[in-house]
Amino acid sequence: MDIQILGAHNCESHKLRLTSLLIDEVLAVDAGSLTSSLSFEAQQKLKAVLLTHQHYDHIRDIPAISMNFYLAKATINIYSIQSVYDALANYLLNGELYPKFFEKPEDKPTIRFTVIEPGKSEQVAGYSILAVPVKHGVPTVGYQVTSADGKSVFYTGDSGPGLSDCWKCIFPQLLIAEVTASDKFKEPAGNGGHLTPTLLKQELIIFRELKGYLPRVVTVHMSPGLEAEIEAEITTVAAELNSSITLAYEGMLIHL
Ligand SMILES: [Zn+2]
Ligand SMILES: [Zn+2]
Repeated sequence: MDIQILGAHNCESHKLRLTSLLIDEVLAVDAGSLTSSLSFEAQQKLKAVLLTHQHYDHIRDIPAISMNFYLAKATINIYSIQSVYDALANYLLNGELYPKFFEKPEDKPTIRFTVIEPGKSEQVAGYSILAVPVKHGVPTVGYQVTSADGKSVFYTGDSGPGLSDCWKCIFPQLLIAEVTASDKFKEPAGNGGHLTPTLLKQELIIFRELKGYLPRVVTVHMSPGLEAEIEAEITTVAAELNSSITLAYEGMLIHL
């Protein structure tokens, strides 16, 4: 399994992109930077897009990529929870802000949206997908993606502390975890459904107690202005846990 980090941040600039992952060039998770990172050709290779939650930085490129698929007379398969469908249909693809790609064109709508049930494994594009609820201000799921040859990654989406129930359901070789802020914002970040290095450390200690191991950890969704602090604090946490924890960056490739 080859995982490409298309976007690793919670803010966008000409160098930094909003959070998106690409697995084996065919499965995307979150849509913060699908059109801004991928050529038209690469976009057309996507067999499915999984969305963690409705926040703008995670769905931003759905209207744009839908237009590209519409013009290519192709269908894009999107999987997420009901609240994400509702947000897209009501606020973005509502015929006022942008076309209703869930219904248009009538004979073969551009978007084929599947509502997934958290806790129930599904086969998507040749992968076993498990959506697991996490802790955020709006309904949010993380995804465990397992390939046919048994390689497995879990991506938290946006989540604050309190992941023990989530950890019980998963068994990944790689954990892609959000770390939005540095520890000086531990309280507001935690209350707002985000993690800091110390909050991640607490969750990883629980993971190791429950599962008896720690996977390699890569962090995403960093706030650019805090990244130097986050990196220093993550280095300390990694040493304390004697584990591999590194910050993702745009274009990072991870082979499992
Ligand atoms: Zn969010
Ligand atoms: Zn976010």
